[in-house]
Amino acid sequence: MPVVKVVIAVVILAGVAVFAFQDQLVNKFINKRIAERLNGVVLQQFTNTLSVVICGAGSPIPDPQRSGSCALVIAGDQVLMIDAGSGVSQVSAMGISLGLVDNVFLTHFHSDHINSLGELMTQRWANSGKDFPLAVHGPNGTNTIVNGFNMAYGSDRSYREAHHTTAVMPPQGGLAQAHAFKLPPAEGLVVLEKSGLKVTAFAVDHSPVDPAVGYKFEYQGHSLVFSGDTAKSLVVQKFAKGSDVLIHEALSTPIVNMITTVASQENKPRVVKITQDILDYHTSPVEAAQVAQGANVPFLLFSHIVPQLPINNLKKRFVEGVADAYDGEFSIAQDGSFVSIDLKDGSISHGDLLN
Ligand SMILES: [Zn+2]
Ligand SMILES: [Zn+2]
Repeated sequence: MPVVKVVIAVVILAGVAVFAFQDQLVNKFINKRIAERLNGVVLQQFTNTLSVVICGAGSPIPDPQRSGSCALVIAGDQVLMIDAGSGVSQVSAMGISLGLVDNVFLTHFHSDHINSLGELMTQRWANSGKDFPLAVHGPNGTNTIVNGFNMAYGSDRSYREAHHTTAVMPPQGGLAQAHAFKLPPAEGLVVLEKSGLKVTAFAVDHSPVDPAVGYKFEYQGHSLVFSGDTAKSLVVQKFAKGSDVLIHEALSTPIVNMITTVASQENKPRVVKITQDILDYHTSPVEAAQVAQGANVPFLLFSHIVPQLPINNLKKRFVEGVADAYDGEFSIAQDGSFVSIDLKDGSISHGDLLN
């Protein structure tokens, strides 16, 4: 055989060997990742912390970086959820099992806060095999939402029970159960106390949406506060006083006004009307910063971001004036953002589980 042919044959064989080896390496990597996900390894970094993980940092406006409203609170071995918007699907994407969530807290009933409740119920059931319903806490009206989702997902539950058996999919586990409360009084209302974690609801101003609440989570001497959807509110400031982290909704008036102006030029009166309407029941980033400053909170996380911020220039404009109004650290959430309070020394760290 001529030398050239031998060389070519050797090169081809070497190439095949590298390919085969590559596949082995890739398989090893994939198997390791599957095992890590099955064992919830990602949660290990939150041991001995009180943490918030944002699964949905957006609003009803579609945004590739920000799904509909959803957040996890991690306190010890408890994982709780605030709102069940489309960000619910990001929880599994982060490697966290929805089977861990036994309690969800609704802030109000705008669709971007409830539209994935059915998926949460189903995924929790499939991932855990639990035999008791998901507890859905929320202001009066929560019963109607829960009954609706239980009814709408009835056929799906019957298919899964038939397919996997009720031993694997216990019927009660696929359901949700409402824990509704009256609009909280001025001093707030404790809606859950469990294993050292206390959850307090407080009324906010999202008029004409009524009821609308925010929540405070207290654990081992530290706390997180969620504003819910609200116009600038002294109630949020009162409940956030002395907390470690405030997660506040935010809408940029100048950027939304840009949409209104272009919509007006393009003769889109519906867009003009709606973009003007939404200004009165949300909080601007500077107003949220003023609330955080008034409450003396060291970390402010903007979430429920309106509108989309697809380029860095817009992110810069979104927080224009915030540093002048607020002495603490702040960040704009996207799906995957987290903030952790170390329970030993109180230090605060933040990062992203998806990016
Ligand atoms: Zn909303
Ligand atoms: Zn809302």
